[in-house]
Amino acid sequence: MKLTPEERKKQEHYRDARFTKQYDSIWQSVGKCVFCDLRDKYIFFEENGIVMTISLYAYIDGHFMIVPRRHIRSPKELTQLEWDTIRKFFYIAKKLIREVYDIKGMQLVQKDGSEAQSTVDQHLHFHCIPFDAPDLCEWNYRKLQFTPLENAERYRQAKKKIVSLDKKFDSKYKNTSAIRVVCDAIIVNEKNQVLLQERKAHLKLVPDSLTLPGGGVDNFDVPLEAELAREIAEETGLDISHKPISLIDSRLGGTTITRQVTHLDLAYPVSNHFLWNTYIITDVTSTATLTPGGDCDALVWMDINEAVAHERISPGIQKVLKKVKL
Ligand SMILES: [Zn+2]
Repeated sequence: MKLTPEERKKQEHYRDARFTKQYDSIWQSVGKCVFCDLRDKYIFFEENGIVMTISLYAYIDGHFMIVPRRHIRSPKELTQLEWDTIRKFFYIAKKLIREVYDIKGMQLVQKDGSEAQSTVDQHLHFHCIPFDAPDLCEWNYRKLQFTPLENAERYRQAKKKIVSLDKKFDSKYKNTSAIRVVCDAIIVNEKNQVLLQERKAHLKLVPDSLTLPGGGVDNFDVPLEAELAREIAEETGLDISHKPISLIDSRLGGTTITRQVTHLDLAYPVSNHFLWNTYIITDVTSTATLTPGGDCDALVWMDINEAVAHERISPGIQKVLKKVKL
């Protein structure tokens, strides 16, 4: 790694800050949220808005953090997808530390609140700390007042609080869907043509394919049809929100997608599962103005009888198109 003398000095300063006691004074001078402003050069993995990044003021070599890109304070604010990703990152973290530093143990630490000695207590992060010997972190155990049974009883006596927290969490933070839901639409005009889109090259699951307009559901507080209408408007410019829509097919879909990891400069295939609903909308005319959205290169009307056997349309979509009664 080629570094300028100044950069080299800065790197050594980070390395030694915990020993020179400079760390404490550094934090008092930082105004903005450092985790909203992560530097690419320290990030080595990212997926679904969750990153793995080196801890600048590490406790031990190899210490890194799992940090959501979003400025959130607590795990309760994570989406299902973010939480599932963090769960996977915990798994990768432990194996990775063993591979790179030959250390079998890992302490996973999340300090909640400044009372728990968290310096950045407004932006959630999990420390992944290689752990090889107790000298790194020793608990100063307290003299206990209560036996294990007495401690269990104290928590049991707070049962009203447990129930109210359980209900409060469900009403405020519960994630509705763990599996991704995808909705798309067969939009047919008066000439029995179906609307197909050419997606931007990097968004295509299969090269050279034509797909139905639609996409993943983000907001589960509205009907699925409303989310579909939002996607259709974004991709085609059509307003279908007041048109009759009916579900024509619902199935569990599985496909292989390419995961691009820019921090590692690599790409590899992974499987992806989702609930896939297809709707039909027949009340659109061939003269309606079409405006391809950001994800879309072009929109085409194709005769439905041609589409059911067209080589650029996937067998899955062809099968659903065959269900359309003209
Ligand atoms: Zn932040």
